[in-house]
Amino acid sequence: MSIRIGILGYGNLGRGVECAIKQNPDMELAAVFTRRNPEDVKILTESAAVCALAEAENWKDKIDVMILCGGSATDLPEQTPVYAKLFNVVDSFDTHARIPEHFANVDAAAKEGGKVGLISVGWDPGMFSLNRMYANAILPQGNDYTFWGKGVSQGHSDAIRRVEGVKDAKQYTVPVEEALKAVRDGENPELTTRQKHTRECYVVLEEGADAKKVEEEIKNMPNYFADYDTTVHFISEEELKKEHSGIPHGGFVLRSGKTGWNEENAHLIEYSLKLDSNPEFTSSVIVAYARAAYRLAKEGQTGCKTVFDVAPAYLSIKSGEELRAHML
Ligand code: NAP
Repeated sequence: MSIRIGILGYGNLGRGVECAIKQNPDMELAAVFTRRNPEDVKILTESAAVCALAEAENWKDKIDVMILCGGSATDLPEQTPVYAKLFNVVDSFDTHARIPEHFANVDAAAKEGGKVGLISVGWDPGMFSLNRMYANAILPQGNDYTFWGKGVSQGHSDAIRRVEGVKDAKQYTVPVEEALKAVRDGENPELTTRQKHTRECYVVLEEGADAKKVEEEIKNMPNYFADYDTTVHFISEEELKKEHSGIPHGGFVLRSGKTGWNEENAHLIEYSLKLDSNPEFTSSVIVAYARAAYRLAKEGQTGCKTVFDVAPAYLSIKSGEELRAHML
């Protein structure tokens, strides 16, 4: 029998999860749950139901893993603990500073319900976290570097849209090539925020807006732009739609380390991602971890877990024998 998946929240990630399930023959989409009127939410899987959120608890015995696709800012801190009491859940909570607090809340709820709650799954947190951890365990003497981009930052794009005179905007985070090169060359540089990333903004102005004033306001915005070299390009609405409607992202996790009695040999570990669609890739990671959540629950495990707690073989559709024969 296939693993029955529920999707709670149908935005970019919800749609991405639906597409990823289609590529995994051991899974099926049972239902999508939404806070909106279900009739207004059109999904692609003909065999699956679209239900109001209030109906979710009636599906307790018809769903093996509920994938929570709400936003990290306000949805997941509330939703994950609530649904971890009823279902095995996976979320992609990405507010790094609040992960310990989220873990504690989900752990209590999942233990109360006898379920598994797998949190902060995706690429960062997620695959990048795993690669940082593996590299640190292997090379205890070394330095860590994470670069993001080139990719769209939703938070920074939103911040620009709130500036008076801005009609629409897209912001790309771009790693600084020279900094990446210095790391790859084993120079172990100490890099400031400004030396690691630049910010590129594509902005559509409201009619009659003062471009100079808008540019100054963006470049001097504390937390978001003031600590970076920022460029602002003013473009037309058509160009924004045509050239900047995708949601690409990616980045690099590196660790440079030394081994040998006198630390005479240098090593570099690099993991990189180049993603056409941030939400579709994130969803693909989540779906693999949904398989793991299902298997952990079958073994009788309960409580909150992160990617650090899941052995790699639990992610794969292949059996242990197949993995040992072909991938080891
Ligand atoms: P999103 O598209 O804004 O969707 C978030 C929620 O908004 C949906 O679940 C949906 O809930 C509601 N929604 C979506 N479209 C709507 C519409 N047209 N009208 C009204 N409501 C709508 O966000 P997302 O791109 O899927 O990202 C979700 C979260 O994933 C982000 O907050 C981010 O923290 C996380 N993320 C994590 C990683 C990682 O690497 N860990 C990577 C990428 C993203 P309802 O169906 O209930 O209305």
